[in-house]
Amino acid sequence: MKIIDGKKISNDVLDEIKIVVDERIKNRKKVPHLAAVLVGDDGPSETYVKSKIRACERVGFNSSLFKFDMDISQDELLKEIIKINENQDIDGFIVQLPLPSNIEQEKILTQISPNKDVDGFHPYNYGKMTLGIDTFLPATPAGIVELIKRYKIELSGKKCLVIGRSQIVGLPISILLGQNKSYANATVTVAHSQTKHLDLLCASSNIIISAIGIPNFLKSSMVSDKTVIIDVGISRIEDSTSPRGYKIVGDVDIEDFRDRDIMITPVPGGVGPMTIAMLLQNTLKACQLND
Ligand code: NAD
Repeated sequence: MKIIDGKKISNDVLDEIKIVVDERIKNRKKVPHLAAVLVGDDGPSETYVKSKIRACERVGFNSSLFKFDMDISQDELLKEIIKINENQDIDGFIVQLPLPSNIEQEKILTQISPNKDVDGFHPYNYGKMTLGIDTFLPATPAGIVELIKRYKIELSGKKCLVIGRSQIVGLPISILLGQNKSYANATVTVAHSQTKHLDLLCASSNIIISAIGIPNFLKSSMVSDKTVIIDVGISRIEDSTSPRGYKIVGDVDIEDFRDRDIMITPVPGGVGPMTIAMLLQNTLKACQLND
């Protein structure tokens, strides 16, 4: 089993961003500024936002957190989004998902100015991505593409199975890896909760990207030798030996693969850190577009 080290690659990307930021500061150019909108006090969401802010500090970005109570109305939140759109100092911002059930996610995400949409979820940017036009790519799929490029994983003509069809991971990564780009050109199959004979699809795939959120779902018996496995899943499972009482695991039962001839991203330390690095890369791009 060979580990695809997302932690290391994300650190490399952050170092590269820092060099660009230091150069901008030297040349008296604007320092990139990322903002995050957080509604309510969902534990995991707060943790994700904190890691994004920490990463901003690491590369020398400015960052802001706009935190709103759980009971903010949709109209109020839309007004706040407009204010951030108009704030000249903020280059890009994200709305941390999930939002409370009284707020329509689509209404909020389409209100974000496409020029500041560093999560790449606005239909304008999503459409550009689908057409293969340069834009802000959604951070998690962009992180997977970056790992594939930096590990020089050859995808051309290979069978790629994406498990999960969410708008933030499964769907965009299936689009990106099937495109006519030097790092892609895979033959992509998308599996989901209604897919039959998933084990047969797994066994015949050269690369498997799992984004379902079921702990330890993918077992060694389902996969052929030489397969590249990208584990996007993040689940908390009970762990009495941990002071927190839980541990984070992926969709892949990694222990089951110990003695196998495969490449794999661990959880934690795989796709997760890459997601943050790509968000910062998008923010730098948004700032550079304003130069
Ligand atoms: P989601 O939770 O919106 O949907 C899950 C998908 O899995 C659906 O498309 C569903 O059809 C599919 N699915 C469910 N059961 C299945 C089964 N038995 N067989 C095949 N497909 C099945 O998806 P999401 O938002 O992409 O999240 C998936 C996982 O990825 C979650 O654990 C989430 O926390 C994690 N995630 C990680 C990152 C990261 O940065 N590493 C980013 C986003 C999401």
